[in-house]
Amino acid sequence: MAGKDFYEVLGVPLGAAPEEIKKAYRRAALKHHPDRNPGNKEAEERFKEAAEAYSVLIDPDKKAVYDQYGSDGLRSQGYSGFDSSVFEDFEDILGNFFGFSFGDLFGTAERNRRRQPERGRDLALEMEISLEEAALGVEKEIKLTRHEKCSSCNGSKLRPGSRKSVCPACQGRGQIRYQQGFFTLSRTCSHCRGAGEIIASPCGECQGTGMIKEKTSLKIKIPAGMDNGTRLRVPGEGEAGEKDMPRGDLYVITRIRKHAFFEREKNDLSCEVPLSFAQAALGARIEVPTFEGNEVLKIPPGVQSGEVFRLKGKGIRDVDGRRKGDLYVKVIVTTPADLTKEQKSLLLKLAELRGETIDDVDKSVVLKVRNLFH
Ligand SMILES: [Zn+2]
Ligand SMILES: [Zn+2]
Repeated sequence: MAGKDFYEVLGVPLGAAPEEIKKAYRRAALKHHPDRNPGNKEAEERFKEAAEAYSVLIDPDKKAVYDQYGSDGLRSQGYSGFDSSVFEDFEDILGNFFGFSFGDLFGTAERNRRRQPERGRDLALEMEISLEEAALGVEKEIKLTRHEKCSSCNGSKLRPGSRKSVCPACQGRGQIRYQQGFFTLSRTCSHCRGAGEIIASPCGECQGTGMIKEKTSLKIKIPAGMDNGTRLRVPGEGEAGEKDMPRGDLYVITRIRKHAFFEREKNDLSCEVPLSFAQAALGARIEVPTFEGNEVLKIPPGVQSGEVFRLKGKGIRDVDGRRKGDLYVKVIVTTPADLTKEQKSLLLKLAELRGETIDDVDKSVVLKVRNLFH
């Protein structure tokens, strides 16, 4: 099939969009599909051509090489033949139309299909921490149960002294081959579950699984900046892998407890602080608590209740450590409810000086809000 123009094969113009290429390929694949053309060698060739053309034109890198240097260019760049990811792509497009792997059709699936030892599974657990711990980072001890390699059989799954035997059903291939139409297909051997070997006398300690559940405790460093639902990856602390395969990873997902004083919005914090009438009227310097010590906030004279001040960089450090959020301080002017006689008379004096009515009916409010009613 070398030498044929891929654009011609699919019947698309140079510069066709990926959607167009996909459509054209689907059309060609369905038309020339061997099931629809039993015994037709020509159709099978067309079918393969279309698949090859598609595998090149849909891949931006391969397409660029092909557009400039043609098929020879592809081969010199090591792009010859099909790789399995391309088959996955095809299966994705054609859905379950085929019901078998493309690898079978192209004869590239001859490599050893035995189930290989797997790396350990990842584990995930949730951990609740305080807002302060989230802001500053913390070291925590966690307890968990995870699978460890069975020490009795060293993960081999075999009773010590016994051996594995070749699976009689698949003769050790892990796959059972069968004929469908003119294709030879294969499926995973159900007798050995693809392992190619069977264990006649399994290890008693782990019931032949090679793994044993064990309780363990770990010290985990939680960096500053964790938020609700942040996933922290602790490499190599998941479950043990099979044979010599590496352990899985552990993921710690943080939940942040509500704080009595601070509210958090991403990396910003906010809080409310009380201010007396005199402080609000005259201005003041007040101390505001943060997770890294107290900060002095300068309140200008004449501030109103509910006004918000920003303390830059006094929020929470971003988890990547680069920037810090801000702290928003909302001042709430509080009214004294426990005035002494002397304080009362001073306030009355102030009201008098400002022409405010205390004992009589105050008519000025109506005047002030009148225009809001019309
Ligand atoms: Zn064992
Ligand atoms: Zn088998």
